[in-house]
Amino acid sequence: QAKAAGRNTACFFDPEMQAAAAIQADLEKSLRDALTREQFFLEYQIQCNAAGHILGVEALVRWQHPTLGKVLPEVFIPMAEETGVIVPLGLWVLEQALGQLCVWSRYPKSQSWMLAVNMSGLQLAHPNFVDSVIRVLRQTGANPARVRIELTEGAMQKDIDEIIGKMNELKALGVSFSLDHFGTGYSSLLHLKRLPLAQLKIDASFVRDLHCNPSNAMLAQAVISLGHGFDLAVIAEGVECAEQQERLEHMGCDAFQGHLFGRPVGAEQLHHYFD
Ligand code: C2E
Ligand code: MG
Ligand code: MG
Repeated sequence: QAKAAGRNTACFFDPEMQAAAAIQADLEKSLRDALTREQFFLEYQIQCNAAGHILGVEALVRWQHPTLGKVLPEVFIPMAEETGVIVPLGLWVLEQALGQLCVWSRYPKSQSWMLAVNMSGLQLAHPNFVDSVIRVLRQTGANPARVRIELTEGAMQKDIDEIIGKMNELKALGVSFSLDHFGTGYSSLLHLKRLPLAQLKIDASFVRDLHCNPSNAMLAQAVISLGHGFDLAVIAEGVECAEQQERLEHMGCDAFQGHLFGRPVGAEQLHHYFD
């Protein structure tokens, strides 16, 4: 924001902005140590079909800051990307989530669940990406066919052929891929026909106001038709009310995620589904 203000020197001395910058610098510093201090934890949010049957869960990382409390990913993921912390953090998320999948595997009712893990483009671009995913699969003993990696269109901005190559290597092992926040990034249509995807996620911004905003409804319908045209399953995120689900279901949407079905919760809070 300081950049946007240009060379306005007044802004340099603006105490509010200085305070904000100091908080930012502080956060960045503590983010670097957060992993060794074991301040991260995962929550899981269920994904359902139209009948309310659980298809799987998405792992979502949280940061328990010693003084600020629970910091949400919108705040620290961009920081983790800028500082490179995202690479070890992303690996930690994968280890935790796949370990949890194996714990759940003891319960027969969870055995059909897919586990979705978000990955940053920077992780994907890392030369050791494929090897580290394979290593975590081996270490945890997780079934690759139950692992779904959620990528954003931003991840496709780098060398697309290299990314497709990496995705195909993991796909050969059974791992599948979903394109997250679909429709909010760039050049999505061109990539869509080349990427080895299994699923598209309709971004929550198209789901919001679905019942009263005709252009959002049109966009949601377009994403669903597009996905099905490419033989992909389509899941909507941010589904908060029954009207949204009904509209999406009517449009042919295959799966749903959002507060209507369940908020992100700790792993143990999902155990009642296994009874
Ligand atoms: P996402 O992958 O699209 O995750 C879904 C986000 O929507 C989550 O936000 C979830 O809490 C929120 N959400 C779920 N249902 C509803 C609903 O009904 N209404 C509304 N308003 N929101 C809902 P969260 O956990 O804050 O995560 C934000 C983003 O941070 C994620 O978006 C994902 O892009 C990123 N993220 C989360 N965990 C990781 C991670 O382990 N690695 C990476 N690279 N990114 C992550
Ligand atoms: Mg996601
Ligand atoms: Mg998403």
